[in-house]
Amino acid sequence: MPEHGAPLIAIIAAGMVLAFAFGLLAHRIRVSPLIGYLLAGILVGPFTPGFVADQALADQLAEIGVILLLFATGLHFSLADLISVKNTALPGALAQLTISTLLGMALAWCFGWNVGAGLVFGLALACASTVVLTRSLQEHRLIESDRGRIAVGWVIVQDLVMVVALVLIPTLGTSADGPTSWAQLSTTLGITIAKVAAFVAIMLVGGRRIIPLILHYAAHTGSRELFRLAVYAIALGVAYGAASLFGVSFAIGAFFAGMVLAESPLSQRATEEALPLRDAFAVLFFISVGMLFNPAVLIDRPWAVIATLAVIVGGNSFAAFAAIRLLGQSRPTALTVAASLGQIGEFSFILAGFGVGLGLLPPDGRDLILAGSILSILLNPFLFAVVERGQVRVLPRPGPMARTPAGPMPDKATVAAPPRASRVVPTESVAVTTLTAHDVLVGYGRVGSLLGRRLLSEGRPVLVLEEREAAVAAARKDGAEVVVGNAADPEVLAAANLPAARHLFVTIPEAFEAGQVIQQARAAHPDLSIVARAHRDAEVDHLTRLGADLTVMGEREIAQRMIEHAQRRSERD
Ligand code: AMP
Repeated sequence: MPEHGAPLIAIIAAGMVLAFAFGLLAHRIRVSPLIGYLLAGILVGPFTPGFVADQALADQLAEIGVILLLFATGLHFSLADLISVKNTALPGALAQLTISTLLGMALAWCFGWNVGAGLVFGLALACASTVVLTRSLQEHRLIESDRGRIAVGWVIVQDLVMVVALVLIPTLGTSADGPTSWAQLSTTLGITIAKVAAFVAIMLVGGRRIIPLILHYAAHTGSRELFRLAVYAIALGVAYGAASLFGVSFAIGAFFAGMVLAESPLSQRATEEALPLRDAFAVLFFISVGMLFNPAVLIDRPWAVIATLAVIVGGNSFAAFAAIRLLGQSRPTALTVAASLGQIGEFSFILAGFGVGLGLLPPDGRDLILAGSILSILLNPFLFAVVERGQVRVLPRPGPMARTPAGPMPDKATVAAPPRASRVVPTESVAVTTLTAHDVLVGYGRVGSLLGRRLLSEGRPVLVLEEREAAVAAARKDGAEVVVGNAADPEVLAAANLPAARHLFVTIPEAFEAGQVIQQARAAHPDLSIVARAHRDAEVDHLTRLGADLTVMGEREIAQRMIEHAQRRSERD
Protein backbone atom coordinates (compact mmCIF):
# COMPACT_ATOMS: atom_id res chain seq x y z
CA MET A 1 0.00 0.00 0.00
CA PRO A 2 1.42 3.39 -0.88
CA GLU A 3 0.46 4.90 2.47
CA HIS A 4 3.27 2.99 4.17
CA GLY A 5 5.76 4.79 2.00
CA ALA A 6 4.17 8.22 2.19
CA PRO A 7 2.00 8.49 5.31
CA LEU A 8 1.95 12.28 5.22
CA ILE A 9 0.64 12.39 1.68
CA ALA A 10 -1.78 9.57 2.46
CA ILE A 11 -3.32 11.39 5.38
CA ILE A 12 -3.57 14.73 3.60
CA ALA A 13 -5.06 13.14 0.49
CA ALA A 14 -7.48 10.77 2.22
CA GLY A 15 -8.43 13.38 4.81
CA MET A 16 -9.08 16.14 2.29
CA VAL A 17 -11.02 13.93 -0.13
CA LEU A 18 -13.25 12.51 2.60
CA ALA A 19 -13.63 15.87 4.33
CA PHE A 20 -14.69 17.40 1.04
CA ALA A 21 -17.22 14.64 0.38
CA PHE A 22 -18.69 14.78 3.88
CA GLY A 23 -18.48 18.57 4.01
CA LEU A 24 -20.56 18.73 0.82
CA LEU A 25 -23.04 16.29 2.27
CA ALA A 26 -23.29 18.31 5.48
CA HIS A 27 -23.85 21.47 3.47
CA ARG A 28 -26.52 19.72 1.47
CA ILE A 29 -28.46 18.68 4.55
CA ARG A 30 -27.87 22.16 6.03
CA VAL A 31 -25.70 21.28 8.99
CA SER A 32 -22.28 22.68 9.81
CA PRO A 33 -19.50 21.31 7.59
CA LEU A 34 -17.52 20.70 10.80
CA ILE A 35 -19.70 17.67 11.34
CA GLY A 36 -18.69 16.35 7.93
CA TYR A 37 -14.99 16.84 8.71
CA LEU A 38 -15.33 15.01 12.03
CA LEU A 39 -17.06 12.10 10.32
CA ALA A 40 -14.25 11.96 7.77
CA GLY A 41 -11.81 11.76 10.69
CA ILE A 42 -13.73 8.90 12.30
CA LEU A 43 -13.60 7.04 8.98
CA VAL A 44 -9.83 7.34 8.58
CA GLY A 45 -9.31 6.63 12.28
CA PRO A 46 -8.20 3.34 13.79
CA PHE A 47 -11.60 2.40 15.18
CA THR A 48 -13.38 1.99 11.88
CA PRO A 49 -12.44 -0.59 9.23
CA GLY A 50 -10.47 0.30 6.13
CA PHE A 51 -7.69 2.85 5.71
CA VAL A 52 -6.08 4.02 8.95
CA ALA A 53 -4.12 7.24 8.87
CA ASP A 54 -1.13 8.01 11.09
CA GLN A 55 -2.47 9.71 14.21
CA ALA A 56 0.83 11.30 15.22
CA LEU A 57 1.11 12.96 11.82
CA ALA A 58 -2.52 14.02 11.94
CA ASP A 59 -1.89 15.68 15.30
CA GLN A 60 1.00 17.70 13.94
CA LEU A 61 -0.97 18.79 10.91
CA ALA A 62 -3.74 19.78 13.28
CA GLU A 63 -1.28 21.91 15.25
CA ILE A 64 -0.50 23.82 12.06
CA GLY A 65 -4.25 24.38 11.72
CA VAL A 66 -4.37 25.72 15.28
CA ILE A 67 -1.44 28.05 14.60
CA LEU A 68 -2.91 29.47 11.38
CA LEU A 69 -6.36 29.78 12.87
CA LEU A 70 -5.18 31.68 15.90
CA PHE A 71 -2.90 33.81 13.76
CA ALA A 72 -5.84 34.81 11.59
CA THR A 73 -7.93 35.43 14.71
CA GLY A 74 -5.18 37.66 16.06
CA LEU A 75 -5.21 39.56 12.77
CA HIS A 76 -8.78 40.59 13.51
CA PHE A 77 -7.92 41.54 17.05
CA SER A 78 -5.96 44.58 18.08
CA LEU A 79 -4.44 45.13 21.47
CA ALA A 80 -7.17 47.69 22.11
CA ASP A 81 -9.78 44.98 21.48
CA LEU A 82 -8.12 42.70 23.98
CA ILE A 83 -7.97 45.46 26.57
CA SER A 84 -11.59 46.42 25.90
CA VAL A 85 -12.85 42.98 26.91
CA LYS A 86 -10.59 42.51 29.93
CA ASN A 87 -13.32 43.42 32.41
CA THR A 88 -15.61 40.72 31.06
CA ALA A 89 -13.35 38.03 29.65
CA LEU A 90 -10.84 37.88 32.49
CA PRO A 91 -13.12 37.58 35.55
CA GLY A 92 -15.73 35.71 33.52
CA ALA A 93 -13.35 33.07 32.24
CA LEU A 94 -11.78 32.56 35.66
CA ALA A 95 -15.19 32.16 37.30
CA GLN A 96 -16.39 29.78 34.59
CA LEU A 97 -13.19 27.71 34.75
CA THR A 98 -13.56 27.36 38.51
CA ILE A 99 -17.22 26.32 38.38
CA SER A 100 -16.75 23.94 35.46
CA THR A 101 -13.65 22.35 37.00
CA LEU A 102 -15.53 21.79 40.26
CA LEU A 103 -18.39 20.17 38.33
CA GLY A 104 -15.91 17.89 36.56
CA MET A 105 -14.28 17.03 39.89
CA ALA A 106 -17.67 16.16 41.33
CA LEU A 107 -18.27 13.81 38.41
CA ALA A 108 -14.82 12.26 38.88
CA TRP A 109 -15.66 11.73 42.54
CA CYS A 110 -18.83 9.86 41.46
CA PHE A 111 -16.62 7.65 39.25
CA GLY A 112 -14.51 6.92 42.35
CA TRP A 113 -11.36 8.74 41.15
CA ASN A 114 -9.02 10.66 43.44
CA VAL A 115 -8.64 14.46 43.67
CA GLY A 116 -5.69 14.62 41.25
CA ALA A 117 -7.63 12.71 38.60
CA GLY A 118 -10.63 14.91 39.29
CA LEU A 119 -8.63 18.09 38.81
CA VAL A 120 -7.21 16.98 35.45
CA PHE A 121 -10.63 15.74 34.34
CA GLY A 122 -12.38 18.91 35.53
CA LEU A 123 -9.91 21.25 33.83
CA ALA A 124 -10.14 19.24 30.61
CA LEU A 125 -13.93 19.58 30.61
CA ALA A 126 -13.77 23.30 31.41
CA CYS A 127 -11.58 24.54 28.59
CA ALA A 128 -13.23 25.26 25.24
CA SER A 129 -11.57 24.56 21.92
CA THR A 130 -10.26 27.77 20.44
CA VAL A 131 -10.45 26.28 16.97
CA VAL A 132 -14.09 25.27 17.27
CA LEU A 133 -15.01 28.58 18.87
CA THR A 134 -13.35 30.79 16.27
CA ARG A 135 -14.68 28.59 13.49
CA SER A 136 -18.28 28.85 14.77
CA LEU A 137 -17.99 32.60 15.23
CA GLN A 138 -16.70 32.93 11.69
CA GLU A 139 -19.48 30.81 10.35
CA HIS A 140 -21.98 33.09 12.03
CA ARG A 141 -20.06 36.20 11.00
CA LEU A 142 -19.68 37.18 14.62
CA ILE A 143 -15.92 37.24 14.94
CA GLU A 144 -15.70 41.00 14.66
CA SER A 145 -18.76 41.76 16.76
CA ASP A 146 -18.55 42.77 20.44
CA ARG A 147 -19.77 39.42 21.61
CA GLY A 148 -17.29 37.70 19.28
CA ARG A 149 -14.47 39.68 20.85
CA ILE A 150 -15.59 38.72 24.35
CA ALA A 151 -15.71 35.05 23.33
CA VAL A 152 -12.23 35.17 21.79
CA GLY A 153 -10.83 37.07 24.80
CA TRP A 154 -12.43 34.39 26.98
CA VAL A 155 -10.67 31.47 25.29
CA ILE A 156 -7.41 33.37 25.30
CA VAL A 157 -7.70 33.64 29.09
CA GLN A 158 -8.58 29.93 29.23
CA ASP A 159 -5.55 29.10 27.10
CA LEU A 160 -3.26 31.11 29.37
CA VAL A 161 -4.65 29.35 32.44
CA MET A 162 -4.06 26.00 30.71
CA VAL A 163 -0.45 26.91 29.98
CA VAL A 164 0.04 27.40 33.71
CA ALA A 165 -1.98 24.26 34.52
CA LEU A 166 0.19 22.13 32.25
CA VAL A 167 3.20 23.20 34.27
CA LEU A 168 1.51 22.68 37.61
CA ILE A 169 -0.06 19.29 36.99
CA PRO A 170 3.16 17.26 37.10
CA THR A 171 3.86 18.79 40.49
CA LEU A 172 0.60 17.41 41.89
CA GLY A 173 2.69 14.40 42.76
CA THR A 174 2.78 11.10 40.99
CA SER A 175 2.74 7.86 42.90
CA ALA A 176 6.50 7.40 42.38
CA ASP A 177 7.87 10.73 43.57
CA GLY A 178 5.41 11.74 46.22
CA PRO A 179 4.06 15.24 46.53
CA THR A 180 6.32 18.05 45.47
CA SER A 181 7.29 20.66 48.05
CA TRP A 182 5.68 24.08 48.09
CA ALA A 183 9.03 25.72 47.44
CA GLN A 184 9.52 23.67 44.28
CA LEU A 185 5.96 24.33 43.24
CA SER A 186 6.19 28.07 43.61
CA THR A 187 9.55 28.17 41.80
CA THR A 188 8.14 26.26 38.82
CA LEU A 189 5.04 28.43 38.81
CA GLY A 190 7.08 31.60 39.08
CA ILE A 191 9.31 30.57 36.18
CA THR A 192 6.30 29.73 33.99
CA ILE A 193 4.56 33.01 34.69
CA ALA A 194 7.80 34.92 34.14
CA LYS A 195 8.31 33.15 30.78
CA VAL A 196 4.76 33.91 29.62
CA ALA A 197 5.12 37.52 30.76
CA ALA A 198 8.49 37.80 28.99
CA PHE A 199 6.98 36.49 25.77
CA VAL A 200 4.02 38.89 25.93
CA ALA A 201 6.32 41.83 26.75
CA ILE A 202 8.72 40.99 23.92
CA MET A 203 5.84 40.73 21.46
CA LEU A 204 4.20 43.95 22.58
CA VAL A 205 7.38 45.97 22.66
CA GLY A 206 9.75 44.46 20.08
CA GLY A 207 7.37 42.36 17.96
CA ARG A 208 5.04 45.27 17.52
CA ARG A 209 7.80 47.17 15.74
CA ILE A 210 9.74 44.43 14.01
CA ILE A 211 6.94 42.25 12.64
CA PRO A 212 5.10 45.00 10.69
CA LEU A 213 8.51 46.15 9.42
CA ILE A 214 9.27 42.69 8.04
CA LEU A 215 5.90 42.56 6.34
CA HIS A 216 6.30 46.05 5.01
CA TYR A 217 9.68 45.15 3.59
CA ALA A 218 8.28 41.99 1.99
CA ALA A 219 5.44 44.01 0.45
CA HIS A 220 7.94 46.42 -1.05
CA THR A 221 9.78 43.68 -2.88
CA GLY A 222 6.70 43.68 -5.12
CA SER A 223 6.66 39.89 -5.05
CA ARG A 224 3.36 38.45 -3.99
CA GLU A 225 5.03 35.12 -3.34
CA LEU A 226 7.51 36.68 -0.91
CA PHE A 227 4.74 38.58 0.85
CA ARG A 228 2.75 35.39 1.29
CA LEU A 229 5.84 33.63 2.53
CA ALA A 230 6.48 36.45 5.02
CA VAL A 231 2.97 35.97 6.44
CA TYR A 232 3.47 32.22 6.93
CA ALA A 233 6.99 32.69 8.24
CA ILE A 234 5.78 35.15 10.87
CA ALA A 235 2.83 32.98 11.93
CA LEU A 236 4.71 29.70 12.16
CA GLY A 237 8.02 31.23 13.26
CA VAL A 238 6.58 33.15 16.20
CA ALA A 239 4.37 30.23 17.26
CA TYR A 240 7.26 27.79 17.21
CA GLY A 241 9.63 30.25 18.88
CA ALA A 242 7.07 30.99 21.58
CA ALA A 243 6.61 27.30 22.28
CA SER A 244 10.26 26.31 22.32
CA LEU A 245 11.77 29.36 24.01
CA PHE A 246 9.03 30.44 26.38
CA GLY A 247 6.95 27.31 26.88
CA VAL A 248 3.90 29.21 25.62
CA SER A 249 1.43 27.22 23.52
CA PHE A 250 1.59 27.41 19.72
CA ALA A 251 -1.88 28.90 19.79
CA ILE A 252 -0.99 31.83 22.04
CA GLY A 253 2.24 32.49 20.12
CA ALA A 254 0.39 32.66 16.83
CA PHE A 255 -2.40 34.76 18.30
CA PHE A 256 0.04 37.40 19.52
CA ALA A 257 1.88 37.39 16.19
CA GLY A 258 -1.43 38.09 14.46
CA MET A 259 -2.41 40.69 17.02
CA VAL A 260 0.73 42.78 16.64
CA LEU A 261 0.26 42.61 12.87
CA ALA A 262 -3.37 43.72 13.14
CA GLU A 263 -2.16 47.26 13.79
CA SER A 264 -0.22 47.37 10.54
CA PRO A 265 -1.92 48.79 7.44
CA LEU A 266 -0.95 45.59 5.67
CA SER A 267 -3.03 43.42 7.98
CA GLN A 268 -5.90 43.14 5.52
CA ARG A 269 -3.62 41.75 2.82
CA ALA A 270 -1.94 39.47 5.34
CA THR A 271 -5.35 38.09 6.33
CA GLU A 272 -6.22 37.37 2.72
CA GLU A 273 -2.98 35.47 2.26
CA ALA A 274 -3.39 33.46 5.46
CA LEU A 275 -6.99 32.41 4.81
CA PRO A 276 -6.63 29.63 2.22
CA LEU A 277 -3.92 27.78 4.11
CA ARG A 278 -5.75 28.29 7.39
CA ASP A 279 -8.93 26.74 6.05
CA ALA A 280 -7.12 23.75 4.65
CA PHE A 281 -5.31 23.02 7.89
CA ALA A 282 -8.31 23.72 10.10
CA VAL A 283 -10.02 20.89 8.24
CA LEU A 284 -7.10 18.64 9.17
CA PHE A 285 -7.63 19.61 12.79
CA PHE A 286 -11.17 18.28 12.75
CA ILE A 287 -10.07 15.14 10.96
CA SER A 288 -7.46 14.46 13.61
CA VAL A 289 -10.06 14.92 16.37
CA GLY A 290 -12.39 12.52 14.57
CA MET A 291 -9.59 9.96 14.38
CA LEU A 292 -9.31 9.84 18.16
CA PHE A 293 -12.88 8.79 18.65
CA ASN A 294 -13.59 5.21 19.67
CA PRO A 295 -17.33 4.73 19.24
CA ALA A 296 -17.20 1.68 21.58
CA VAL A 297 -17.20 3.96 24.62
CA LEU A 298 -20.75 4.99 23.71
CA ILE A 299 -21.91 1.41 24.18
CA ASP A 300 -19.68 0.46 27.11
CA ARG A 301 -20.30 3.52 29.33
CA PRO A 302 -23.27 5.44 27.99
CA TRP A 303 -24.21 7.14 31.27
CA ALA A 304 -20.70 8.28 32.00
CA VAL A 305 -20.53 9.76 28.49
CA ILE A 306 -23.85 11.53 28.95
CA ALA A 307 -22.78 12.95 32.34
CA THR A 308 -19.47 14.16 30.84
CA LEU A 309 -21.31 15.75 27.95
CA ALA A 310 -23.73 17.42 30.37
CA VAL A 311 -20.83 19.06 32.21
CA ILE A 312 -19.29 20.28 28.94
CA VAL A 313 -22.40 21.53 27.23
CA GLY A 314 -24.62 22.40 30.18
CA GLY A 315 -22.06 23.19 32.88
CA ASN A 316 -19.69 25.35 30.82
CA SER A 317 -22.43 27.19 29.01
CA PHE A 318 -24.46 27.83 32.11
CA ALA A 319 -21.45 28.95 34.17
CA ALA A 320 -20.41 31.30 31.35
CA PHE A 321 -23.94 32.62 30.91
CA ALA A 322 -24.30 33.35 34.62
CA ALA A 323 -20.85 34.96 34.83
CA ILE A 324 -21.49 37.25 31.87
CA ARG A 325 -24.89 38.30 33.10
CA LEU A 326 -23.45 39.05 36.55
CA LEU A 327 -20.80 41.16 34.85
CA GLY A 328 -23.58 43.28 33.40
CA GLN A 329 -23.59 42.15 29.77
CA SER A 330 -26.77 41.79 27.71
CA ARG A 331 -28.66 38.52 27.36
CA PRO A 332 -27.83 38.03 23.65
CA THR A 333 -24.13 38.50 24.38
CA ALA A 334 -24.30 36.05 27.27
CA LEU A 335 -26.15 33.50 25.14
CA THR A 336 -23.71 33.67 22.23
CA VAL A 337 -20.61 33.44 24.43
CA ALA A 338 -22.20 30.63 26.45
CA ALA A 339 -23.04 28.66 23.30
CA SER A 340 -19.56 29.12 21.91
CA LEU A 341 -18.05 27.67 25.10
CA GLY A 342 -20.23 24.54 25.24
CA GLN A 343 -17.57 22.33 23.67
CA ILE A 344 -14.01 21.18 24.33
CA GLY A 345 -11.10 20.36 22.06
CA GLU A 346 -7.36 20.64 21.64
CA PHE A 347 -6.32 21.66 25.16
CA SER A 348 -8.48 18.98 26.68
CA PHE A 349 -6.74 16.34 24.55
CA ILE A 350 -3.36 17.63 25.64
CA LEU A 351 -4.43 17.62 29.28
CA ALA A 352 -5.92 14.14 29.00
CA GLY A 353 -2.78 12.73 27.37
CA PHE A 354 -0.64 14.43 29.96
CA GLY A 355 -2.75 13.20 32.87
CA VAL A 356 -2.74 9.60 31.66
CA GLY A 357 1.00 9.77 30.96
CA LEU A 358 1.67 10.89 34.53
CA GLY A 359 -0.54 8.17 35.99
CA LEU A 360 -2.89 10.78 37.42
CA LEU A 361 -5.88 10.14 35.19
CA PRO A 362 -7.22 6.63 34.50
CA PRO A 363 -7.24 5.78 30.74
CA ASP A 364 -11.04 5.68 31.05
CA GLY A 365 -10.91 9.40 31.73
CA ARG A 366 -9.25 10.07 28.40
CA ASP A 367 -11.89 8.06 26.55
CA LEU A 368 -14.64 10.03 28.27
CA ILE A 369 -12.95 13.35 27.50
CA LEU A 370 -12.62 12.37 23.84
CA ALA A 371 -16.20 11.17 23.61
CA GLY A 372 -17.38 14.32 25.36
CA SER A 373 -15.31 16.47 23.06
CA ILE A 374 -16.46 14.93 19.83
CA LEU A 375 -20.11 14.87 20.85
CA SER A 376 -19.96 18.46 22.11
CA ILE A 377 -18.34 19.62 18.86
CA LEU A 378 -21.06 17.79 16.96
CA LEU A 379 -23.74 19.41 19.11
CA ASN A 380 -22.24 22.89 19.03
CA PRO A 381 -23.69 24.07 15.72
CA PHE A 382 -27.13 23.03 16.96
CA LEU A 383 -26.58 24.85 20.25
CA PHE A 384 -25.64 27.96 18.30
CA ALA A 385 -28.72 27.62 16.13
CA VAL A 386 -30.98 27.26 19.17
CA VAL A 387 -29.43 30.33 20.77
CA GLU A 388 -29.78 32.38 17.60
CA ARG A 389 -33.33 31.22 17.24
CA GLY A 390 -34.02 32.10 20.87
CA GLN A 391 -32.72 35.58 20.21
CA VAL A 392 -34.90 35.80 17.15
CA ARG A 393 -37.94 35.14 19.28
CA VAL A 394 -37.19 37.75 21.93
CA LEU A 395 -36.97 40.49 19.35
CA PRO A 396 -39.95 42.70 18.78
CA ARG A 397 -41.81 42.56 15.49
CA PRO A 398 -41.40 43.19 12.57
CA GLY A 399 -38.97 40.34 12.79
CA PRO A 400 -35.38 39.70 13.59
CA MET A 401 -33.78 40.12 10.22
CA ALA A 402 -36.26 42.69 9.24
CA ARG A 403 -35.70 45.95 7.53
CA THR A 404 -34.66 48.37 10.23
CA PRO A 405 -35.21 52.07 9.91
CA ALA A 406 -32.49 54.58 10.66
CA GLY A 407 -31.74 54.56 14.37
CA PRO A 408 -29.42 53.03 16.92
CA MET A 409 -27.54 50.02 15.66
CA PRO A 410 -28.79 46.75 17.12
CA ASP A 411 -26.28 44.01 17.74
CA LYS A 412 -25.69 42.40 14.39
CA ALA A 413 -26.31 38.82 15.38
CA THR A 414 -29.82 39.58 16.47
CA VAL A 415 -30.76 40.87 13.09
CA ALA A 416 -28.51 39.11 10.62
CA ALA A 417 -29.62 36.02 8.79
CA PRO A 418 -27.26 33.23 9.74
CA PRO A 419 -25.32 31.95 6.75
CA ARG A 420 -26.91 29.04 4.98
CA ALA A 421 -24.32 26.52 6.07
CA SER A 422 -25.21 27.07 9.70
CA ARG A 423 -28.92 27.20 9.27
CA VAL A 424 -30.07 23.99 10.83
CA VAL A 425 -33.50 25.30 11.73
CA PRO A 426 -35.62 27.39 9.45
CA THR A 427 -35.44 31.05 10.39
CA GLU A 428 -38.35 33.41 10.47
CA SER A 429 -38.95 35.40 7.36
CA VAL A 430 -37.59 38.88 6.74
CA ALA A 431 -40.18 41.63 6.48
CA VAL A 432 -40.36 43.09 2.99
CA THR A 433 -39.72 46.81 2.65
CA THR A 434 -42.67 49.11 2.00
CA LEU A 435 -40.54 51.40 -0.18
CA THR A 436 -41.48 51.75 -3.83
CA ALA A 437 -39.67 53.34 -6.79
CA HIS A 438 -36.55 52.98 -4.66
CA ASP A 439 -32.93 52.20 -5.46
CA VAL A 440 -31.49 49.02 -3.99
CA LEU A 441 -27.81 49.00 -3.08
CA VAL A 442 -26.06 45.73 -2.37
CA GLY A 443 -23.08 46.63 -0.15
CA TYR A 444 -22.36 49.96 1.52
CA GLY A 445 -18.57 50.01 1.46
CA ARG A 446 -16.27 52.27 -0.55
CA VAL A 447 -18.41 52.10 -3.68
CA GLY A 448 -21.90 51.67 -2.24
CA SER A 449 -21.59 54.52 0.26
CA LEU A 450 -20.51 57.04 -2.41
CA LEU A 451 -23.40 55.99 -4.58
CA GLY A 452 -25.86 55.90 -1.68
CA ARG A 453 -24.98 59.38 -0.42
CA ARG A 454 -25.40 60.79 -3.89
CA LEU A 455 -28.81 59.18 -4.34
CA LEU A 456 -29.95 60.22 -0.87
CA SER A 457 -28.84 63.81 -1.49
CA GLU A 458 -31.09 63.78 -4.53
CA GLY A 459 -33.95 62.75 -2.27
CA ARG A 460 -34.21 59.20 -3.67
CA PRO A 461 -35.51 56.45 -1.37
CA VAL A 462 -32.60 54.02 -0.86
CA LEU A 463 -32.62 50.50 0.50
CA VAL A 464 -29.26 48.97 1.42
CA LEU A 465 -28.50 45.26 1.80
CA GLU A 466 -25.40 44.97 4.00
CA GLU A 467 -23.89 42.46 6.39
CA ARG A 468 -21.02 44.36 8.05
CA GLU A 469 -21.86 46.22 11.26
CA ALA A 470 -19.88 49.38 10.56
CA ALA A 471 -21.28 49.67 7.04
CA VAL A 472 -24.84 49.10 8.29
CA ALA A 473 -24.38 51.88 10.84
CA ALA A 474 -22.98 54.22 8.17
CA ALA A 475 -25.91 53.56 5.83
CA ARG A 476 -28.41 54.25 8.59
CA LYS A 477 -26.60 57.41 9.58
CA ASP A 478 -26.81 58.61 6.00
CA GLY A 479 -30.56 58.03 6.08
CA ALA A 480 -30.94 54.78 4.13
CA GLU A 481 -33.19 51.92 5.09
CA VAL A 482 -31.17 48.77 5.74
CA VAL A 483 -31.79 45.05 5.53
CA VAL A 484 -29.01 43.32 7.44
CA GLY A 485 -27.78 40.06 5.97
CA ASN A 486 -26.13 38.40 3.03
CA ALA A 487 -27.75 39.71 -0.15
CA ALA A 488 -27.22 36.37 -1.87
CA ASP A 489 -29.67 34.86 0.63
CA PRO A 490 -33.00 34.64 -1.24
CA GLU A 491 -34.91 35.77 1.85
CA VAL A 492 -32.78 38.87 2.31
CA LEU A 493 -33.01 39.74 -1.38
CA ALA A 494 -36.76 39.26 -1.36
CA ALA A 495 -37.02 41.85 1.43
CA ALA A 496 -35.80 44.50 -1.04
CA ASN A 497 -39.14 44.43 -2.91
CA LEU A 498 -37.37 44.33 -6.28
CA PRO A 499 -40.58 44.37 -8.40
CA ALA A 500 -41.23 47.91 -7.15
CA ALA A 501 -37.58 49.08 -7.34
CA ARG A 502 -36.08 51.47 -9.87
CA HIS A 503 -32.50 50.19 -9.96
CA LEU A 504 -30.45 47.45 -8.38
CA PHE A 505 -26.82 48.44 -7.81
CA VAL A 506 -24.62 45.46 -6.95
CA THR A 507 -21.56 47.19 -5.47
CA ILE A 508 -19.87 44.24 -3.77
CA PRO A 509 -16.39 43.35 -5.02
CA GLU A 510 -16.78 39.57 -4.94
CA ALA A 511 -18.03 38.41 -8.34
CA PHE A 512 -19.22 35.00 -7.20
CA GLU A 513 -21.68 36.40 -4.65
CA ALA A 514 -22.57 39.31 -6.94
CA GLY A 515 -23.42 36.73 -9.61
CA GLN A 516 -25.75 34.91 -7.22
CA VAL A 517 -27.57 38.16 -6.42
CA ILE A 518 -27.90 39.16 -10.09
CA GLN A 519 -29.02 35.72 -11.21
CA GLN A 520 -31.82 35.61 -8.64
CA ALA A 521 -32.87 39.20 -9.29
CA ARG A 522 -32.92 38.74 -13.05
CA ALA A 523 -34.81 35.45 -12.90
CA ALA A 524 -37.57 37.00 -10.84
CA HIS A 525 -37.67 40.43 -12.51
CA PRO A 526 -36.83 40.44 -16.23
CA ASP A 527 -37.30 44.22 -16.56
CA LEU A 528 -35.30 45.43 -13.57
CA SER A 529 -32.36 47.75 -14.22
CA ILE A 530 -29.26 46.06 -12.79
CA VAL A 531 -25.83 47.68 -12.53
CA ALA A 532 -22.87 45.67 -11.23
CA ARG A 533 -19.26 46.16 -10.15
CA ALA A 534 -16.34 44.03 -11.37
CA HIS A 535 -12.57 44.00 -11.28
CA ARG A 536 -11.66 41.67 -14.15
CA ASP A 537 -12.75 41.13 -17.73
CA ALA A 538 -13.89 37.61 -16.93
CA GLU A 539 -16.07 38.98 -14.14
CA VAL A 540 -17.63 41.50 -16.49
CA ASP A 541 -18.56 38.63 -18.83
CA HIS A 542 -19.85 36.50 -15.98
CA LEU A 543 -22.07 39.22 -14.47
CA THR A 544 -23.35 40.40 -17.82
CA ARG A 545 -24.21 36.85 -18.77
CA LEU A 546 -26.16 36.43 -15.54
CA GLY A 547 -28.26 39.50 -16.29
CA ALA A 548 -26.52 42.78 -15.41
CA ASP A 549 -27.44 45.59 -17.83
CA LEU A 550 -24.20 47.38 -17.14
CA THR A 551 -21.09 46.00 -15.45
CA VAL A 552 -18.56 48.65 -14.50
CA MET A 553 -15.01 47.44 -14.20
CA GLY A 554 -13.24 49.52 -11.55
CA GLU A 555 -9.78 49.13 -13.06
CA ARG A 556 -10.96 50.28 -16.48
CA GLU A 557 -12.52 53.40 -14.99
CA ILE A 558 -9.34 54.17 -13.07
CA ALA A 559 -7.29 53.87 -16.27
CA GLN A 560 -9.79 56.05 -18.08
CA ARG A 561 -9.53 58.82 -15.48
CA MET A 562 -5.75 58.65 -15.58
CA ILE A 563 -5.73 58.95 -19.38
CA GLU A 564 -8.15 61.87 -19.23
CA HIS A 565 -6.00 63.65 -16.72
CA ALA A 566 -2.85 63.08 -18.79
CA GLN A 567 -4.58 64.32 -21.93
CA ARG A 568 -5.85 67.47 -20.24
CA ARG A 569 -2.39 68.13 -18.89
CA SER A 570 -0.80 67.69 -22.35
CA GLU A 571 -3.36 70.00 -23.92
CA ARG A 572 -2.64 72.66 -21.31
CA ASP A 573 1.16 72.46 -21.65
P1 AMP B 1 -16.22 47.95 -0.69
O1 AMP B 1 -15.39 46.90 -1.40
O2 AMP B 1 -15.42 48.85 0.21
O3 AMP B 1 -17.10 48.73 -1.65
O4 AMP B 1 -17.17 47.16 0.32
C1 AMP B 1 -18.11 46.21 -0.08
C2 AMP B 1 -19.21 46.12 0.97
O5 AMP B 1 -20.12 45.12 0.56
C3 AMP B 1 -18.72 45.75 2.35
O6 AMP B 1 -19.23 46.69 3.27
C4 AMP B 1 -19.31 44.36 2.59
O7 AMP B 1 -19.69 44.18 3.94
C5 AMP B 1 -20.50 44.34 1.69
N1 AMP B 1 -20.83 43.00 1.19
C6 AMP B 1 -20.01 42.11 0.58
N2 AMP B 1 -20.66 40.99 0.24
C7 AMP B 1 -21.96 41.18 0.64
C8 AMP B 1 -23.14 40.39 0.55
N3 AMP B 1 -23.13 39.18 -0.04
N4 AMP B 1 -24.28 40.88 1.08
C9 AMP B 1 -24.31 42.10 1.66
N5 AMP B 1 -23.23 42.88 1.76
C10 AMP B 1 -22.06 42.45 1.26
